[in-house]
Amino acid sequence: MFTSIAGRAVVVTGGTRGIGKGIAKVFAGAGARVLIVGRDAEAAKAAVTEVSAGGAEISHVLADVSRREDCERIAATATQRLGGIDVLCANAGIFPAAPLAEMTDEDIEEVLGTNLKGTILSVQACLNPLAASGRGRVILTSSITGPITGFPGWAHYGASKAGQLGFLRTAAIELAASGITVNAVLPGNIVTEGLDDLGEEYQAQMAAAIPLRRLGTVEEIGYAALFLATDEAGYITGQTIVVDGGQVLPESLSALDG
Ligand code: NAP
Repeated sequence: MFTSIAGRAVVVTGGTRGIGKGIAKVFAGAGARVLIVGRDAEAAKAAVTEVSAGGAEISHVLADVSRREDCERIAATATQRLGGIDVLCANAGIFPAAPLAEMTDEDIEEVLGTNLKGTILSVQACLNPLAASGRGRVILTSSITGPITGFPGWAHYGASKAGQLGFLRTAAIELAASGITVNAVLPGNIVTEGLDDLGEEYQAQMAAAIPLRRLGTVEEIGYAALFLATDEAGYITGQTIVVDGGQVLPESLSALDG
């Protein structure tokens, strides 16, 4: 149905765990050649082993997206190993909680530095190979938290995730001339290793607030990203796709009773 993306060169920041690993798996499963990025070597190696088990072409590079020189190294590694970059999934992100009244400069700088500045730096570093692709795709992992909803402890995180969308709207206009589209996926509550640690009761409570009555899977975020990377999505730019099981829809808890 969709034109195959087999052989495309795909970079996934934060592809060593969680949602990013799910995105990497989905793209690798579609025949793309994937470079994943993270800071922890053991997690990166484990992810490469896991994803390559199905015969996929995947490798890793250790880099911190909050540092310009690291982002330039990501782009250089992709160019050297994959011959360029067709798709950049700017997914790396952190979500340490801090109540507003107690939030320190370090808390703010760490979250904005990774989630917002890291997004901008990774896109900037990959601009030339994305333009050379002729069908470059940038897909950001934002969140419902910030752009649509709020959650105590995550004021800085919400600001970073909403900030990504402010960035994407102007980036989409500026990069259109190079044939690059810029879009974002906004996940709701997705089952990741970190969430597993919070236990079944916590997950059940969250699922009860979601119309589809379950949390999302990392692959479900991966498939939304994959759609945005297809040739058939080539006329979509500056847009967002919410993947949340309907979580943002209920006006009140009673709306979920019906
Ligand atoms: P996760 O399991 O903690 O994975 C985060 C990934 O980002 C890891 O690969 C991590 O590797 C990498 N990373 C973190 N800081 C980095 C940095 N400075 N430089 C390079 N890589 C870095 O988190 P996740 O839940 O999958 O979240 C992934 C993205 O989805 C984030 O942008 C998050 O905001 C968004 N999101 C998640 C959910 C959810 O329910 N899980 C919901 C909405 C949005 P290292 O630690 O080794 O660097």
